[in-house]
Amino acid sequence: MSAWSRTWLEQRVLRTKEEAIAWAQSAGLLLSSVQCRQHRAPMVFYPNRGPFGSFRCPKHAKHRSSEPSEVSAASGSIFEDSKLPLDKVLRLMFEWSCDASYEVTHRETGVSSRTTADWYRAIRESITMAFLQDQDDRGKIGGPGCVVQVDEAKFGRRKYHRGRTIEGHWVLGMIQDGSQDLRLVVCPGNSRTSKTLTPIIVDHVADDTTMGMSIIGSTIKRTLLIQGMVLIPKGSSPVGVRRESSSGTGEYLKKISQTT
Ligand SMILES: [Zn+2]
Repeated sequence: MSAWSRTWLEQRVLRTKEEAIAWAQSAGLLLSSVQCRQHRAPMVFYPNRGPFGSFRCPKHAKHRSSEPSEVSAASGSIFEDSKLPLDKVLRLMFEWSCDASYEVTHRETGVSSRTTADWYRAIRESITMAFLQDQDDRGKIGGPGCVVQVDEAKFGRRKYHRGRTIEGHWVLGMIQDGSQDLRLVVCPGNSRTSKTLTPIIVDHVADDTTMGMSIIGSTIKRTLLIQGMVLIPKGSSPVGVRRESSSGTGEYLKKISQTT
């Protein structure tokens, strides 16, 4: 993904529909193989069937009605219910990754602000879901001399993406200053009390970490102090660390959650 630039996108990914599909498959955005459940054999891929390509079982004439003989490559993906063609969505993903405004996105893609807002939300939530499913065993962040920012955000209504949903759920985010290493946790029972949040923080942030927290209540603060975590009072900065200039969780959560 290091070559992810507008020129590269136009010249290497979006020249033809087949090329765009192949790239999306290699990136894991579209299915690249499907097994027929009835015949226990690989289905054949037809890039020109449907907007995202389709897999067909070579023995489709012999299929029971309960087993699909054709499966879209977009099945189960962010593209599944898309009304936009693949190239437009890939352009939107690119603009999102550049933090492009709706205005710039409209100029570059021709997509309206409203549709862009829906897609940006779907992309954020999709990335968050992937992150949530993949963050076990990552260990703790922080430690002596490290600052960890904690913030929370509520997830909006998912319009385009099926699958496990976190609609309307509060997510607690923790990120170490000067690092891209972060932890996201869906608040159990959608609760944001100190009883819920404190064990999450203690589970994911190492002892003796300096905590920068704007949203955490006094009960949590007291518990964290007992755990050896030093708190930064709101508005002040520890030596050598400026909270304002950090890539804080708040900023990240704003990016991945619905804040409008
Ligand atoms: Zn079959």
